Amino acid sequence: MKARILLASRNAHKAEEFESLLPGVEFIPWSGPEIPEDGAFFQDNALQKAIFARDWCARRGIGGHDAIDGVIADDSGLCVDALFGGPGVLSARFAPHLSYAEKNPLLLRMINPEDPRTCRFVCVLAYADATEARAEPFTVSGIAEGSLAMEARGNSGFGYDPIFIPRGYDNTFAELPSEIKNSLSHRGKAARALAGRLRGAELM
Ligand code: IMP
Repeated sequence: MKARILLASRNAHKAEEFESLLPGVEFIPWSGPEIPEDGAFFQDNALQKAIFARDWCARRGIGGHDAIDGVIADDSGLCVDALFGGPGVLSARFAPHLSYAEKNPLLLRMINPEDPRTCRFVCVLAYADATEARAEPFTVSGIAEGSLAMEARGNSGFGYDPIFIPRGYDNTFAELPSEIKNSLSHRGKAARALAGRLRGAELM
């Protein structure tokens, strides 16, 4: 039987990636309130989101708490060396009034020609089991190294994908098929680490 896991995110793109990254899981979408994330680090935010969602479900019985095995939360972002690691944990909140079609060129204009173009996508996944006695909440992480493209290219993926060229490739994540992105990406690596931990602990 598939593990039933609530995904503590409203990001439909992330949900789609998780569906293909963890086919052994039946994902329940988040239908609760906006989840607070005010930590300084990806790990703090991921744990905060997973525990908030698990506790909220337990209180409200939303989604049938008894019927869910646990909660996964993702905190991720793009860390650009020339921006001292920014936008980093603030990736979702960088220039919030702009669309990504406007935000990506803006970010590229913030880099001087002599600056290094190296950057990385970081993903921390937190897992909070529905039955606290079964497992303490924990995190796993994944990093995809790469560099900033000279201009935004490609239509697949989401967010900063059009300006991120993974190391060893010439194309941006938004130009690569989703299977290639999943095999290289920060989220792909973290999801495989999470699946290993869940299987090892017989939680999946
Ligand atoms: P979070 O939902 O607070 O974790 O914000 C994550 C933000 O980081 C997203 O809204 C995107 O801006 C960015 N991000 C994270 N992962 C990816 C990815 O795989 N591709 C493109 N952008 C991403």
